[in-house]
Amino acid sequence: MRQKTLKTKINCTGVGLHSGRRVKLTIGPAAVDSGILFKRTDLGEAGVVIPARWDHVVDTRLCTTIGNTDGVRVGTIEHLMAAFSGLGVDNAVVEIDGPEVPIMDGSADAFVFLIECAGLFEQSALRKRIKVLKLVTVSDGDATASLLPSPFPALDFALDFASPAIGRQERSVRLVDGAFKRELSRARTFGFAEEVEQLRKAGLARGGSLDNAIVVGSGRVLNREGLRYRDEFVRHKLLDAVGDLYLAGAPVDARFHAVRSGHALNNRLLRTLFADSEAWTVTSGEELTGADWVQPEPRQAMG
Ligand SMILES: [Zn+2]
Repeated sequence: MRQKTLKTKINCTGVGLHSGRRVKLTIGPAAVDSGILFKRTDLGEAGVVIPARWDHVVDTRLCTTIGNTDGVRVGTIEHLMAAFSGLGVDNAVVEIDGPEVPIMDGSADAFVFLIECAGLFEQSALRKRIKVLKLVTVSDGDATASLLPSPFPALDFALDFASPAIGRQERSVRLVDGAFKRELSRARTFGFAEEVEQLRKAGLARGGSLDNAIVVGSGRVLNREGLRYRDEFVRHKLLDAVGDLYLAGAPVDARFHAVRSGHALNNRLLRTLFADSEAWTVTSGEELTGADWVQPEPRQAMG
């Protein structure tokens, strides 16, 4: 398994969910072992590159924001990172002329489309993978997130909301053979109508609308088109986790098991993993072929 990057540059425009700002996003090829690099093109030439890595995460309230020592930041990177992870992109440069990745339709669908349009190019070096060697767990109140040894990436997530529109949802996914695109990529972010005004007062969710989020109010989904999957909420939390975990800097061969986790806990999990040198190792070229353990699941599309 060799490293992959994009064949060509490709771009899109959209608004930031929290900033409400219109931005242009360009993704393009990068050299072997670069990883995913974000570059702010609106702030001059020096100190504007931020590696998309767990140790550059500077804020995890509502979204995942990375920054560098020059104080340059990019927010809401998780859905784009999920698309890179799900499609097996190791190296890419992301140029953006504003403080926040555009929210597009609230899912990773547009980013999957962009990456597929650009096409992937196989590079000379072998792909690195992070193998988790022992159980690592973090918790915060009734939320927990763990990584367990596994020969392939898999994720379990459980959430529980009082609103009858969501309730209790649980889902597991093996991140192999197109499962990300098929089962998670179209799941949208969600919010509560009751909280929108509070967020706006705090200068957040300025770009949020029924076009880029599922909005729940008075115990029901307010979007006229309904849901894309019966359990779209938990699928989106899995999508977020895929993006947050890709900040490890390489695919993580582990089972991610989470209850009510979010961006903050996902990042603490990576920090805890990398703080213990006996908990992980880097491998290359050992990826399983997939044929033995893939169990395709029919898409539960609704609405
Ligand atoms: Zn999200």
